[in-house]
Amino acid sequence: MIYRTDYHIHSSFSDGRAAPEDYIAPAVAAGLREIGFAEHLTLFRGPLDWSMDASGVEPYLKHIDNLSRNVSGIRIRTGLEVDFSPGIIKEIHALLSKSKLDYTIGAVHYLGDSTVDMGPEFYDGKDIDTLWEDYFNHVVAAAASGLFDIIAHCDLIRIYGFRPSSDPEKLYRNLAASFKMHDVAFEVNTNGRNRPIGDFYPDRKYLSIFREENVPVCVNSDAHMPSRVAQYFDEAYDLLKRAGYSEMAVFKNRERFMIPF
Ligand SMILES: [Zn+2]
Ligand SMILES: [Zn+2]
Repeated sequence: MIYRTDYHIHSSFSDGRAAPEDYIAPAVAAGLREIGFAEHLTLFRGPLDWSMDASGVEPYLKHIDNLSRNVSGIRIRTGLEVDFSPGIIKEIHALLSKSKLDYTIGAVHYLGDSTVDMGPEFYDGKDIDTLWEDYFNHVVAAAASGLFDIIAHCDLIRIYGFRPSSDPEKLYRNLAASFKMHDVAFEVNTNGRNRPIGDFYPDRKYLSIFREENVPVCVNSDAHMPSRVAQYFDEAYDLLKRAGYSEMAVFKNRERFMIPF
């Protein structure tokens, strides 16, 4: 069986619906060799019901460390899905550098004070071309920050189906080039299928662009409940193969290794 990983899992430490323990059996059943938790971490946004703040990190890491000592048959990895904001790079760096992690996932959910994925109202009265450009610029800045090993759902701005007035291919080319330049991986995030857009992130149409730039890739479920671990992975790997990919990135102690699939 091919070596599969799922590095983007949310448990009750952020907005997942179950304890980390509850994800292990479904992960083993799905044939995963590694499962990695990546709880939301959002700094300086006040208390949020969907994300940890800095004080949540240590108890979370301890819990996962304990869990991994008591589980066999699958490797458990530890990550964080960190909200990127250009103004707090130093603060994020300080926290990440003292935390024992296998990988960090950088995510852009916020444009300004609002998140792009909490409801379609965000898009009301806004210029969609500008929003797309703004979103992609933030993702490029996240990749360039040096904080992250993986970038999450790199075109989340698609979520409600608002499209720019012309083909955004150039935005994807620029994104892929910056991922390559800053040596970060991207993910095929299968959870988009469960969201209003109804398909993976990024747009499958542009996967070959990431391949042309030779950007390392992971397949992640972004599961918020155990039944969604490794969901739609056969289809995601198939898409990647058709785009020309034959290997994927795995992580341990913030080091990346490539494994064929
Ligand atoms: Zn996210
Ligand atoms: Zn997530």
